[in-house]
Amino acid sequence: MQGDELRTAFTALMYHEMTHVFQWSGNFTAPGPLTEEIADYMVLRAKLNGTGFALPGQGDRWDEGYEVTARFLEYCDSLMTGFTAALNNKMRYAYSEDYFVQLLGKPVDQLWYKALYKEAMEKLWQLCLGSGMRACTM
Ligand SMILES: [Zn+2]
Repeated sequence: MQGDELRTAFTALMYHEMTHVFQWSGNFTAPGPLTEEIADYMVLRAKLNGTGFALPGQGDRWDEGYEVTARFLEYCDSLMTGFTAALNNKMRYAYSEDYFVQLLGKPVDQLWYKALYKEAMEKLWQLCLGSGMRACTM
């Protein structure tokens, strides 16, 4: 790794680690993958994620980490601008899964399945458009 690739990787690392400096962890009661992934989400928002970054719709659980949770936070932010910042603010003293209900009106597992459904429907739509079927291009 060298040149622009190295510069981007270093900047991404700084975004990730500096997020840890400023974020809340619910006095260490928040799931570890969530606090890690809020940092990865900052990398994603800054468009510093590399080509190996998880894609929307990947993963088995919202809190599995490994960039899957960052993509889930991206989905939640698409529902409510500033969701991740608001979630972080709520995590100042404690963590609760109920914060998802308070902010987005739905339990986190339901939001996870809606995120997966959205991605599946978008992939299906792209397949449909690519097929040249008349019904898809109207
Ligand atoms: Zn980290």
